[in-house]
Amino acid sequence: ATSYVGFDTITQQIEHKLLKRGFQFNVIVVGQTGLGKSTLINTIFASHLIDSKGRLEADEPIRQTTEIQAASHVISENGVRLRLNIVDTPGYGDNLNNENCWDPIVKYIKDQHSAYLRKELTAVRDRYIQDTRIHCCLFFINPTGHSLRPIDIIVMKKLSEVVNVVPVIAKADSLTMDERDIFKQRIRAELVYHNIVLYPFDTDENDDEELRLNERIRNMIPFAVVGSERNVLIDGKTVRGRKNRWGVINIEDERHCEFVYLRNFLTRTHLQDLIETTAQIHYEAFRSKQLLALKE
Ligand code: GDP
Ligand code: MG
Repeated sequence: ATSYVGFDTITQQIEHKLLKRGFQFNVIVVGQTGLGKSTLINTIFASHLIDSKGRLEADEPIRQTTEIQAASHVISENGVRLRLNIVDTPGYGDNLNNENCWDPIVKYIKDQHSAYLRKELTAVRDRYIQDTRIHCCLFFINPTGHSLRPIDIIVMKKLSEVVNVVPVIAKADSLTMDERDIFKQRIRAELVYHNIVLYPFDTDENDDEELRLNERIRNMIPFAVVGSERNVLIDGKTVRGRKNRWGVINIEDERHCEFVYLRNFLTRTHLQDLIETTAQIHYEAFRSKQLLALKE
């Protein structure tokens, strides 16, 4: 017993330090205007909001985004503080001519990498660099039930080269359950056909359980989600939901849609991995390319 040194407390020491510093999570939302991007973000995070610069309030008048806008929020749960940056993009593909419509979005993501690299390279480095690198891109797919638009395929391909892309079928309540299943399968087949490899990626560091979880996620993507900033009454209980022509949807009920799976994935199972993958894969690729260019 005398040989106890006490280094096992390092996990508590790390936890203490991390809790004090808090966490930074940056999400960008991409998709046509009116697909429910703002609504979904509010549905996932708004109830935990403690401090907000920007627009995440419910019951706002129609918001249409015309430029890329970042809004920062601090959310808190059991003493853990998460600084959340939500970057809203103008609906891409809204116009007749969609040539290069993804450029501003890709540029925005690269600009954040570039800003981070500059800070890393300055002689007097900040002890802690403010991280604006985008950890996750929620990509909203129109619930047509047919297939991806050619423009979606191009944009997803471009984005997947610089950021973790997580596709969702927007407003899934406009499709029946069978239609959703077929649509999901078709989209996954199209991704394979066009050689678009999306997050999550397996690494040697993953244990069996993580590999299984990633496989499950890949088989579920794109998440068929329904968002709502309003409450509805179901069996005498107030829940987040929507009324439509078929009845009432409880968005937190897994039998109604995959909102809960998406939320668990983003906040409970893959938050840390999204952040790490951004640093180790996407940012690293950007960084080595930049540094190589400097040498030439
Ligand atoms: P954005 O332009 O992509 O940000 O879309 P908004 O979040 O502003 O939503 C546009 C409209 O679609 C609003 O009237 C929302 O109430 C509605 N909406 C949002 N999410 C859903 C959904 O999952 N299902 C249905 N049926 N309507 C939705
Ligand atoms: Mg919006």
